Amino acid sequence: MTYLDNAATTPPLKEALLSLQEALADYYANPSSLHQAGFRTAALREEARQRAADLLGVSPGEVIFNSGATEGNNTVLRGIGSLLKRGKKIALTAIGHASVENTARALEREGTPLVRLPLIKGGLIDTEHLEGLIDSSCALLSVTAVNNETGLIQPIQGLIRQARALHPDILVHVDAVQSFWSPLWQEWSALDWDFLTLSAHKIHALKGTGLLLIRKGRHLHPLLTGGEQEHSFRPGTENMPGIIALGMVLRQLAKKRDSFLRKIRHLEESFISGIDSLDGYILNREKGLSYSPHILSLAHDYIPGAVLQNALSEREICVSTGSACSDRDKKNHRVLVNSGYTGQQALNTIRVSLSPLNSEEDITFILSALDEISKTIGPLYRKVR
Ligand code: PMP
Repeated sequence: MTYLDNAATTPPLKEALLSLQEALADYYANPSSLHQAGFRTAALREEARQRAADLLGVSPGEVIFNSGATEGNNTVLRGIGSLLKRGKKIALTAIGHASVENTARALEREGTPLVRLPLIKGGLIDTEHLEGLIDSSCALLSVTAVNNETGLIQPIQGLIRQARALHPDILVHVDAVQSFWSPLWQEWSALDWDFLTLSAHKIHALKGTGLLLIRKGRHLHPLLTGGEQEHSFRPGTENMPGIIALGMVLRQLAKKRDSFLRKIRHLEESFISGIDSLDGYILNREKGLSYSPHILSLAHDYIPGAVLQNALSEREICVSTGSACSDRDKKNHRVLVNSGYTGQQALNTIRVSLSPLNSEEDITFILSALDEISKTIGPLYRKVR
């Protein structure tokens, strides 16, 4: 199997799997329990929190464990509820992940006005034209740092600076789920966001675990009512196996990020130069914009993305046509079309996404499969068009 769908989810590092076994067998106590077994489990949870804080350059008190970024994004958008009740707006793009987009739409139906930020071709937020859109009527600016379908990196620093110049009190939420392999990762500690959401299974830990970072002094209403876990921001007994595995993975990533990143960049280069030499394919990347090296969105001139995906899948190569969270609802290709691509280009797009666990052979294999598919199936679709 050639797995090239790492923006959907990543295979766990072996350290995650080993720690999971230990967590399930030995650290089953409730970390809130006031006895030795509980204290030991709580200590591991705090170790994982400290690692996350160190890696992100925040204080441990700003790190909340939850079930993933869908929960994190919902918590932020819905959790500023008291401000929204006063009719304040949410400013966002039309190319965010479904967990932002559909939450915002639900809030809109409940009476919260949305402000859509202008985008230039490729999906970059047009920071020159935010005046009149961001003002004191906006409670929250929510932005996806790295687009999960195209890999586009938003100019977060300029965007936050511009937003705060227009409305100093605006709260800023960054969905940073796909940012790990982008230069933004090293900037999170310096940037002036209020809430940041992350997901463990996108960085080789386990599904069902996420991080919500809440800047000191900011407040959110929790989505759930219950116990006082996670400073009362996230009640419910913690997912200790997921948290322990995340801690182990973060330890590995802190040591290996640079070498892993070099590997991904190398694979990205091989893929791009291979695609350039094939007939029929075009990368959905715009000159002058920056992209995370792990996401490569490309379109065939004639063959629909779903057909490409299927033909690759028959050859045991796993890619996707877009976000896994919306993979069965591909009719309108919201993200690509709102990023300025034609409906045809969006329809014919697949997303190849890399991890450091991929190899040069994976790239050679997919390139030769894409070439063969283009030569055999391409002519059929060319005729149809
Ligand atoms: N935001 C982005 C940008 C994503 O790529 C994803 C996962 N596809 C999510 C949010 C949701 O993350 P999770 O799977 O942890 O709910």
